[in-house]
Amino acid sequence: MNCPYCGGQEARVIDSRGLDEMVRRRRKCLACGARFTTHERIQPHDIFVIKRDGRREEFSRDKLSLGIRRACEKRPLPAGAIDKFVDSIEAELYEAGGREVASSHIGDLVMAGLKQLDHIAYIRFASVYRQFADIGVLKQEVDSLAVRGESPLTNRLPLPSSEAVNSPIGRKRR
Ligand SMILES: [Zn+2]
Repeated sequence: MNCPYCGGQEARVIDSRGLDEMVRRRRKCLACGARFTTHERIQPHDIFVIKRDGRREEFSRDKLSLGIRRACEKRPLPAGAIDKFVDSIEAELYEAGGREVASSHIGDLVMAGLKQLDHIAYIRFASVYRQFADIGVLKQEVDSLAVRGESPLTNRLPLPSSEAVNSPIGRKRR
């Protein structure tokens, strides 16, 4: 995607939104700093997600969206923020061009994004996605939130997976 001003070949995507089968991207040229908009057809080539246990399954935007919505439930996010976030992750996956992507990579992208978007949603997602594999990190996060007076422990976490019910976080509530 060449810059229409200087012909530079590298541009950073600064905003991305889906319009049916098109995606509109704001880009910033890394050479001259110009900003321009592109409309690109989403090439829905199949992406397969490689799960932790080695199973492959077709990438599903709906599934991604559901997981994120669950984590963001009742959080005071601006209208459209979740869709925009889902768009950005989807765009990143398609843009990377790979036919296969590890589910852990998608999880990491979601975690990184949620961390910016909403800390409580981040903790919820982390607790399900990581399944407390790294409880130390999670505890640090919870502690740092508690210090700032927005402890997620005051909200009952809507954890969809049964493993999480007996989690150390759950026990900590007593
Ligand atoms: Zn340029």
